[in-house]
Amino acid sequence: MNERPDRSLAIGTLAVPYCRRTRLRIHLTSMETPTQEFEPLGLSPQLLAALSSLNYKQPTPIQERAIPAILFGKDVLGIAQTGSGKTAAYVLPILERTLEQKWPMANRHVPVLVLVPTRELAVQVEAVFQELINGLPERVKVAAVFGGVSINPQMIGMQGVQVLIATPGRLLDLIDSKAVHLSSVKMLVLDEADRMLDLGFQEEVDRLLALMPRKRQNLLFSATLNHAVDAITQLVLHKPEVIQVSDGPQEIVLIEQRAYRVSNERKGPFLRYLINSMDMQQVLVFTASSHSADHVADKLVKNGIEAKATHGKKSNHARQQALADFKAGKLRVLVTTDLLSRGIDIDHLPYVINYELPRSPKDYVHRIGRTGRAQRSGIAFSIITPEDQPHFKVIQKKMKQWVTLEGTDDVDLSGM
Ligand code: AMP
Repeated sequence: MNERPDRSLAIGTLAVPYCRRTRLRIHLTSMETPTQEFEPLGLSPQLLAALSSLNYKQPTPIQERAIPAILFGKDVLGIAQTGSGKTAAYVLPILERTLEQKWPMANRHVPVLVLVPTRELAVQVEAVFQELINGLPERVKVAAVFGGVSINPQMIGMQGVQVLIATPGRLLDLIDSKAVHLSSVKMLVLDEADRMLDLGFQEEVDRLLALMPRKRQNLLFSATLNHAVDAITQLVLHKPEVIQVSDGPQEIVLIEQRAYRVSNERKGPFLRYLINSMDMQQVLVFTASSHSADHVADKLVKNGIEAKATHGKKSNHARQQALADFKAGKLRVLVTTDLLSRGIDIDHLPYVINYELPRSPKDYVHRIGRTGRAQRSGIAFSIITPEDQPHFKVIQKKMKQWVTLEGTDDVDLSGM
Protein backbone atom coordinates (compact mmCIF):
# COMPACT_ATOMS: atom_id res chain seq x y z
CA MET A 1 0.00 0.00 0.00
CA ASN A 2 2.84 2.37 0.67
CA GLU A 3 3.21 4.77 -2.20
CA ARG A 4 6.71 5.97 -2.76
CA PRO A 5 6.80 9.58 -3.86
CA ASP A 6 7.70 9.79 -7.47
CA ARG A 7 8.81 13.08 -8.92
CA SER A 8 7.70 12.45 -12.44
CA LEU A 9 4.27 11.37 -11.29
CA ALA A 10 4.02 14.45 -9.15
CA ILE A 11 4.91 16.75 -12.00
CA GLY A 12 2.72 14.91 -14.44
CA THR A 13 -0.47 14.86 -12.42
CA LEU A 14 -0.48 17.94 -10.28
CA ALA A 15 -1.32 21.03 -12.26
CA VAL A 16 0.33 23.34 -9.77
CA PRO A 17 3.40 25.07 -11.13
CA TYR A 18 6.55 24.15 -9.22
CA CYS A 19 9.11 26.88 -9.52
CA ARG A 20 11.61 25.54 -7.06
CA ARG A 21 11.51 22.82 -4.48
CA THR A 22 13.40 22.79 -1.29
CA ARG A 23 14.97 19.59 -0.10
CA LEU A 24 15.48 19.48 3.60
CA ARG A 25 18.07 17.10 4.84
CA ILE A 26 17.34 16.00 8.37
CA HIS A 27 20.48 14.45 9.68
CA LEU A 28 20.02 11.72 12.17
CA THR A 29 23.27 9.84 12.24
CA SER A 30 26.89 10.46 12.95
CA MET A 31 29.77 11.10 10.60
CA GLU A 32 31.47 7.95 11.74
CA THR A 33 31.50 4.96 9.49
CA PRO A 34 29.28 2.29 10.99
CA THR A 35 30.58 -1.18 11.78
CA GLN A 36 29.48 -3.57 9.10
CA GLU A 37 27.80 -5.94 11.49
CA PHE A 38 26.49 -6.56 14.99
CA GLU A 39 28.98 -9.28 15.96
CA PRO A 40 31.73 -7.06 17.43
CA LEU A 41 29.33 -5.23 19.77
CA GLY A 42 29.33 -7.88 22.48
CA LEU A 43 25.84 -9.36 22.06
CA SER A 44 25.35 -13.07 22.69
CA PRO A 45 24.72 -15.56 19.85
CA GLN A 46 21.05 -15.84 20.83
CA LEU A 47 20.47 -12.10 20.40
CA LEU A 48 22.48 -12.08 17.17
CA ALA A 49 20.20 -14.83 15.90
CA ALA A 50 17.12 -12.82 16.95
CA LEU A 51 18.50 -9.82 15.06
CA SER A 52 19.15 -11.77 11.96
CA SER A 53 15.61 -13.21 12.04
CA LEU A 54 14.42 -9.58 11.96
CA ASN A 55 16.74 -8.94 9.07
CA TYR A 56 18.67 -6.25 10.95
CA LYS A 57 21.99 -6.56 9.17
CA GLN A 58 23.98 -3.57 10.37
CA PRO A 59 23.81 -1.54 13.53
CA THR A 60 22.81 2.09 13.13
CA PRO A 61 25.42 4.56 14.45
CA ILE A 62 23.64 5.01 17.78
CA GLN A 63 23.40 1.24 18.22
CA GLU A 64 27.04 0.84 17.36
CA ARG A 65 28.08 3.16 20.15
CA ALA A 66 25.37 2.66 22.75
CA ILE A 67 25.27 -1.16 22.85
CA PRO A 68 28.87 -1.76 24.04
CA ALA A 69 28.64 1.12 26.55
CA ILE A 70 25.40 -0.20 28.05
CA LEU A 71 26.71 -3.77 28.15
CA PHE A 72 29.72 -2.40 29.99
CA GLY A 73 27.37 -1.01 32.62
CA LYS A 74 27.85 2.67 31.82
CA ASP A 75 25.23 5.39 32.03
CA VAL A 76 24.41 6.72 28.58
CA LEU A 77 23.07 10.02 27.30
CA GLY A 78 21.82 9.49 23.75
CA ILE A 79 20.86 12.52 21.73
CA ALA A 80 18.87 10.88 19.01
CA GLN A 81 15.50 11.03 17.38
CA THR A 82 12.99 8.39 16.48
CA GLY A 83 14.18 6.93 13.21
CA SER A 84 17.79 6.61 14.35
CA GLY A 85 17.30 3.10 15.75
CA LYS A 86 17.56 4.40 19.33
CA THR A 87 14.95 1.99 20.71
CA ALA A 88 16.85 -1.15 19.72
CA ALA A 89 20.01 0.63 20.92
CA TYR A 90 18.77 0.19 24.48
CA VAL A 91 16.41 -2.80 24.04
CA LEU A 92 19.21 -5.11 22.86
CA PRO A 93 21.63 -4.55 25.74
CA ILE A 94 18.75 -4.57 28.24
CA LEU A 95 17.70 -8.01 27.01
CA GLU A 96 21.30 -9.15 27.07
CA ARG A 97 21.83 -7.98 30.63
CA THR A 98 18.47 -9.33 31.80
CA LEU A 99 19.28 -12.79 30.43
CA GLU A 100 22.83 -12.71 31.71
CA GLN A 101 22.29 -11.26 35.19
CA LYS A 102 19.18 -13.22 36.11
CA TRP A 103 18.43 -10.57 38.74
CA PRO A 104 16.64 -12.14 41.70
CA MET A 105 13.09 -10.92 41.65
CA ALA A 106 11.22 -10.19 44.82
CA ASN A 107 7.50 -10.16 44.19
CA ARG A 108 6.44 -7.20 41.96
CA HIS A 109 9.87 -5.59 42.13
CA VAL A 110 10.81 -4.73 38.54
CA PRO A 111 14.53 -4.75 37.68
CA VAL A 112 14.20 -2.75 34.44
CA LEU A 113 12.05 0.35 34.00
CA VAL A 114 11.55 2.29 30.76
CA LEU A 115 9.78 5.60 31.28
CA VAL A 116 8.10 7.10 28.22
CA PRO A 117 5.99 10.23 27.79
CA THR A 118 3.03 8.82 25.83
CA ARG A 119 0.99 5.65 25.55
CA GLU A 120 1.74 5.46 21.83
CA LEU A 121 5.47 5.34 22.53
CA ALA A 122 4.89 2.77 25.29
CA VAL A 123 3.14 0.48 22.82
CA GLN A 124 5.85 1.03 20.23
CA VAL A 125 8.71 0.28 22.63
CA GLU A 126 6.92 -2.83 23.87
CA ALA A 127 6.63 -4.02 20.26
CA VAL A 128 10.41 -3.67 19.76
CA PHE A 129 11.03 -5.73 22.92
CA GLN A 130 8.53 -8.40 21.85
CA GLU A 131 9.93 -8.67 18.34
CA LEU A 132 13.37 -9.45 19.71
CA ILE A 133 12.13 -11.68 22.53
CA ASN A 134 10.20 -13.78 20.00
CA GLY A 135 13.52 -14.79 18.48
CA LEU A 136 15.00 -15.89 21.83
CA PRO A 137 15.00 -19.38 23.32
CA GLU A 138 14.26 -17.89 26.77
CA ARG A 139 11.28 -15.73 27.73
CA VAL A 140 11.62 -12.28 29.24
CA LYS A 141 8.40 -10.86 30.66
CA VAL A 142 7.70 -7.33 29.41
CA ALA A 143 4.66 -5.18 30.18
CA ALA A 144 3.58 -1.72 29.07
CA VAL A 145 1.32 0.39 31.27
CA PHE A 146 -0.25 3.76 30.56
CA GLY A 147 -3.29 5.81 31.52
CA GLY A 148 -6.64 6.02 29.77
CA VAL A 149 -7.39 2.32 30.21
CA SER A 150 -8.57 0.28 33.17
CA ILE A 151 -5.89 -0.15 35.85
CA ASN A 152 -7.06 -3.56 37.14
CA PRO A 153 -5.64 -5.80 34.40
CA GLN A 154 -2.39 -3.84 34.65
CA MET A 155 -2.24 -4.47 38.40
CA ILE A 156 -2.71 -8.20 37.88
CA GLY A 157 -0.21 -8.22 35.02
CA MET A 158 2.65 -6.88 37.17
CA GLN A 159 3.42 -10.31 38.57
CA GLY A 160 6.86 -11.46 37.41
CA VAL A 161 7.48 -8.52 35.08
CA GLN A 162 11.17 -8.12 34.25
CA VAL A 163 10.91 -5.08 31.99
CA LEU A 164 8.25 -2.48 32.68
CA ILE A 165 7.50 0.26 30.14
CA ALA A 166 5.38 2.99 31.69
CA THR A 167 4.09 6.51 31.45
CA PRO A 168 4.82 8.37 34.70
CA GLY A 169 1.27 9.05 35.92
CA ARG A 170 -0.02 5.49 35.60
CA LEU A 171 3.15 4.11 37.12
CA LEU A 172 2.61 6.25 40.22
CA ASP A 173 -0.97 4.97 40.45
CA LEU A 174 0.30 1.39 40.30
CA ILE A 175 2.90 2.11 42.96
CA ASP A 176 0.28 3.74 45.18
CA SER A 177 -1.81 0.58 44.88
CA LYS A 178 1.27 -1.52 45.75
CA ALA A 179 0.97 -3.37 42.44
CA VAL A 180 4.61 -2.66 41.68
CA HIS A 181 7.75 -1.51 43.52
CA LEU A 182 10.78 0.35 42.25
CA SER A 183 13.20 -0.38 45.08
CA SER A 184 15.01 -3.07 43.04
CA VAL A 185 15.39 -1.16 39.76
CA LYS A 186 18.76 -2.00 38.22
CA MET A 187 18.34 -0.28 34.88
CA LEU A 188 16.33 2.86 34.15
CA VAL A 189 15.62 4.29 30.71
CA LEU A 190 14.14 7.74 30.21
CA ASP A 191 13.06 7.77 26.59
CA GLU A 192 12.17 11.04 24.85
CA ALA A 193 13.14 12.93 27.97
CA ASP A 194 12.58 16.26 26.22
CA ARG A 195 9.01 15.34 25.37
CA MET A 196 8.48 14.08 28.92
CA LEU A 197 9.46 17.49 30.27
CA ASP A 198 7.47 19.37 27.59
CA LEU A 199 4.40 17.47 28.73
CA GLY A 200 4.99 18.58 32.31
CA PHE A 201 6.03 15.24 33.83
CA GLN A 202 8.94 16.70 35.81
CA GLU A 203 7.25 16.30 39.17
CA GLU A 204 6.14 12.71 38.50
CA VAL A 205 9.62 11.79 37.31
CA ASP A 206 11.14 13.31 40.46
CA ARG A 207 8.76 11.28 42.63
CA LEU A 208 9.62 8.09 40.75
CA LEU A 209 13.37 8.69 40.99
CA ALA A 210 13.07 9.04 44.74
CA LEU A 211 11.62 5.51 44.93
CA MET A 212 14.54 3.86 43.13
CA PRO A 213 17.83 2.71 44.63
CA ARG A 214 20.71 5.14 44.12
CA LYS A 215 22.89 2.51 42.57
CA ARG A 216 21.51 1.67 39.16
CA GLN A 217 22.34 2.08 35.49
CA ASN A 218 20.67 5.03 33.78
CA LEU A 219 20.04 5.58 30.10
CA LEU A 220 18.54 8.82 28.91
CA PHE A 221 17.45 9.52 25.35
CA SER A 222 16.32 12.85 24.02
CA ALA A 223 15.86 14.29 20.55
CA THR A 224 17.08 17.68 21.75
CA LEU A 225 19.31 19.05 24.45
CA ASN A 226 17.91 22.07 26.21
CA HIS A 227 18.15 23.61 29.63
CA ALA A 228 15.49 21.36 31.18
CA VAL A 229 16.94 18.18 29.67
CA ASP A 230 20.36 19.25 30.84
CA ALA A 231 19.02 19.63 34.39
CA ILE A 232 17.49 16.14 34.44
CA THR A 233 20.64 14.73 32.89
CA GLN A 234 22.67 16.15 35.77
CA LEU A 235 20.23 14.68 38.24
CA VAL A 236 19.94 11.20 36.77
CA LEU A 237 23.15 10.32 34.99
CA HIS A 238 26.48 9.42 36.52
CA LYS A 239 29.55 9.99 34.33
CA PRO A 240 27.56 9.14 31.22
CA GLU A 241 28.87 8.14 27.86
CA VAL A 242 27.47 10.91 25.67
CA ILE A 243 26.39 9.73 22.25
CA GLN A 244 25.22 12.41 19.94
CA VAL A 245 24.10 11.21 16.57
CA SER A 246 24.89 14.23 14.54
CA ASP A 247 24.94 15.46 10.99
CA GLY A 248 26.45 13.05 8.57
CA PRO A 249 26.58 12.30 4.92
CA GLN A 250 25.51 8.66 5.09
CA GLU A 251 22.06 9.25 6.45
CA ILE A 252 19.96 10.12 3.47
CA VAL A 253 16.74 11.15 5.00
CA LEU A 254 15.38 13.44 2.40
CA ILE A 255 12.28 15.43 2.87
CA GLU A 256 11.05 17.48 0.03
CA GLN A 257 8.93 20.42 1.14
CA ARG A 258 6.25 22.07 -0.93
CA ALA A 259 4.01 24.91 0.09
CA TYR A 260 0.87 26.22 -1.62
CA ARG A 261 -0.88 29.54 -1.18
CA VAL A 262 -4.59 28.72 -0.91
CA SER A 263 -7.50 30.94 0.12
CA ASN A 264 -9.46 29.88 3.20
CA GLU A 265 -12.53 28.81 1.26
CA ARG A 266 -10.50 26.65 -1.17
CA LYS A 267 -8.51 24.80 1.52
CA GLY A 268 -10.79 21.76 1.83
CA PRO A 269 -11.15 21.21 -1.92
CA PHE A 270 -7.42 21.78 -2.39
CA LEU A 271 -6.61 19.13 0.22
CA ARG A 272 -8.81 16.62 -1.63
CA TYR A 273 -7.26 17.66 -4.92
CA LEU A 274 -3.77 17.10 -3.52
CA ILE A 275 -4.64 13.64 -2.19
CA ASN A 276 -6.43 12.56 -5.36
CA SER A 277 -4.19 14.04 -8.00
CA MET A 278 -1.07 12.60 -6.36
CA ASP A 279 -2.90 9.31 -5.79
CA MET A 280 -1.75 9.34 -2.16
CA GLN A 281 -2.55 6.02 -0.51
CA GLN A 282 -1.05 6.76 2.91
CA VAL A 283 -0.93 10.33 4.13
CA LEU A 284 -0.78 11.96 7.55
CA VAL A 285 -2.67 15.29 7.70
CA PHE A 286 -1.97 17.71 10.53
CA THR A 287 -4.44 20.22 11.92
CA ALA A 288 -4.15 22.74 14.73
CA SER A 289 -6.92 21.37 16.98
CA SER A 290 -8.89 18.22 17.75
CA HIS A 291 -12.05 19.91 16.53
CA SER A 292 -10.45 20.76 13.23
CA ALA A 293 -9.03 17.22 12.86
CA ASP A 294 -12.57 15.79 13.26
CA HIS A 295 -13.96 18.31 10.79
CA VAL A 296 -11.29 17.64 8.14
CA ALA A 297 -11.69 13.86 8.47
CA ASP A 298 -15.50 14.14 8.18
CA LYS A 299 -15.20 16.25 5.04
CA LEU A 300 -12.79 13.79 3.45
CA VAL A 301 -15.09 10.86 4.19
CA LYS A 302 -18.09 12.77 2.79
CA ASN A 303 -16.10 13.26 -0.39
CA GLY A 304 -15.25 9.59 -0.74
CA ILE A 305 -11.73 9.63 0.72
CA GLU A 306 -11.20 7.09 3.51
CA ALA A 307 -10.04 9.01 6.58
CA LYS A 308 -10.08 8.95 10.37
CA ALA A 309 -9.15 11.54 12.99
CA THR A 310 -7.01 10.76 16.01
CA HIS A 311 -6.21 13.17 18.83
CA GLY A 312 -6.13 13.60 22.58
CA LYS A 313 -9.91 13.68 22.91
CA LYS A 314 -10.39 10.25 21.34
CA SER A 315 -10.52 7.15 23.51
CA ASN A 316 -7.33 5.23 23.97
CA HIS A 317 -8.76 2.32 22.02
CA ALA A 318 -9.82 4.53 19.10
CA ARG A 319 -6.38 6.16 18.98
CA GLN A 320 -4.53 2.89 18.93
CA GLN A 321 -6.87 1.35 16.39
CA ALA A 322 -6.60 4.32 14.02
CA LEU A 323 -2.81 4.35 14.27
CA ALA A 324 -2.54 0.58 13.82
CA ASP A 325 -4.82 0.68 10.73
CA PHE A 326 -2.85 3.56 9.31
CA LYS A 327 0.52 1.93 9.92
CA ALA A 328 -0.72 -1.30 8.36
CA GLY A 329 -1.78 0.60 5.24
CA LYS A 330 -5.47 -0.12 5.86
CA LEU A 331 -6.41 3.52 6.29
CA ARG A 332 -5.68 6.05 3.56
CA VAL A 333 -5.70 9.32 5.51
CA LEU A 334 -5.04 9.85 9.21
CA VAL A 335 -5.88 13.36 10.40
CA THR A 336 -4.23 14.38 13.63
CA THR A 337 -2.91 17.15 15.83
CA ASP A 338 0.61 17.56 17.19
CA LEU A 339 -0.08 14.51 19.33
CA LEU A 340 1.55 12.45 16.60
CA SER A 341 4.15 14.91 15.46
CA ARG A 342 6.89 13.32 17.53
CA GLY A 343 8.10 9.96 18.37
CA ILE A 344 5.82 7.82 16.30
CA ASP A 345 7.59 5.77 13.73
CA ILE A 346 5.63 4.93 10.63
CA ASP A 347 7.51 2.81 8.16
CA HIS A 348 8.15 4.62 4.91
CA LEU A 349 5.37 7.13 5.25
CA PRO A 350 5.51 8.88 1.89
CA TYR A 351 3.40 12.00 2.53
CA VAL A 352 2.64 14.49 5.25
CA ILE A 353 0.30 17.46 4.79
CA ASN A 354 0.12 20.47 7.05
CA TYR A 355 -3.49 21.47 6.61
CA GLU A 356 -2.94 23.98 9.38
CA LEU A 357 0.46 25.11 10.61
CA PRO A 358 1.68 24.32 14.11
CA ARG A 359 2.40 27.22 16.40
CA SER A 360 5.97 26.22 17.06
CA PRO A 361 8.67 25.78 14.41
CA LYS A 362 9.94 22.79 16.41
CA ASP A 363 6.61 21.04 15.91
CA TYR A 364 6.81 21.79 12.18
CA VAL A 365 10.13 19.95 12.00
CA HIS A 366 8.73 17.05 14.01
CA ARG A 367 5.64 16.88 11.83
CA ILE A 368 7.47 16.77 8.53
CA GLY A 369 10.00 14.38 10.08
CA ARG A 370 7.24 11.71 10.11
CA THR A 371 8.00 11.21 6.42
CA GLY A 372 11.38 10.64 4.78
CA ARG A 373 12.52 8.12 7.38
CA ALA A 374 14.84 5.16 7.25
CA GLN A 375 16.67 6.35 4.18
CA ARG A 376 13.53 6.83 2.11
CA SER A 377 12.44 10.08 0.55
CA GLY A 378 9.19 11.73 1.46
CA ILE A 379 7.23 14.85 0.64
CA ALA A 380 5.82 17.32 3.15
CA PHE A 381 3.12 19.67 1.84
CA SER A 382 1.91 22.81 3.59
CA ILE A 383 -1.32 24.57 2.75
CA ILE A 384 -0.81 28.24 3.53
CA THR A 385 -3.62 30.80 3.67
CA PRO A 386 -2.79 34.51 3.27
CA GLU A 387 -3.17 34.89 7.07
CA ASP A 388 -0.67 32.04 7.64
CA GLN A 389 2.04 33.62 5.53
CA PRO A 390 3.81 35.71 8.20
CA HIS A 391 3.87 32.73 10.57
CA PHE A 392 5.16 30.42 7.84
CA LYS A 393 7.99 32.92 7.29
CA VAL A 394 8.85 32.73 10.99
CA ILE A 395 8.94 28.93 10.82
CA GLN A 396 11.23 28.97 7.79
CA LYS A 397 13.50 31.53 9.37
CA LYS A 398 13.86 29.42 12.52
CA MET A 399 14.60 26.33 10.40
CA LYS A 400 16.95 28.28 8.15
CA GLN A 401 15.17 26.56 5.26
CA TRP A 402 13.24 28.41 2.60
CA VAL A 403 10.33 26.92 0.75
CA THR A 404 8.91 28.50 -2.38
CA LEU A 405 5.25 29.32 -1.93
CA GLU A 406 3.40 28.21 -5.04
CA GLY A 407 0.24 29.99 -6.24
CA THR A 408 -2.84 27.81 -6.78
CA ASP A 409 -5.38 30.22 -8.26
CA ASP A 410 -5.20 28.49 -11.62
CA VAL A 411 -5.84 25.02 -10.16
CA ASP A 412 -9.31 23.87 -11.17
CA LEU A 413 -10.99 22.60 -8.02
CA SER A 414 -14.46 22.03 -9.46
CA GLY A 415 -15.62 18.52 -8.66
CA MET A 416 -13.46 18.37 -5.53
P1 AMP B 1 13.63 3.96 16.29
O1 AMP B 1 14.56 5.11 16.03
O2 AMP B 1 14.05 3.16 17.46
O3 AMP B 1 12.21 4.42 16.39
O4 AMP B 1 13.73 2.95 15.05
C1 AMP B 1 13.32 3.33 13.76
C2 AMP B 1 13.09 2.13 12.85
O5 AMP B 1 14.32 1.53 12.47
C3 AMP B 1 12.24 1.02 13.45
O6 AMP B 1 11.24 0.70 12.50
C4 AMP B 1 13.19 -0.14 13.65
O7 AMP B 1 12.52 -1.36 13.46
C5 AMP B 1 14.23 0.10 12.57
N1 AMP B 1 15.59 -0.36 12.95
C6 AMP B 1 16.22 -0.14 14.12
N2 AMP B 1 17.48 -0.63 14.07
C7 AMP B 1 17.66 -1.16 12.85
C8 AMP B 1 18.77 -1.81 12.20
N3 AMP B 1 19.92 -1.99 12.80
N4 AMP B 1 18.57 -2.24 10.93
C9 AMP B 1 17.39 -2.03 10.31
N5 AMP B 1 16.32 -1.42 10.86
C10 AMP B 1 16.44 -0.99 12.12
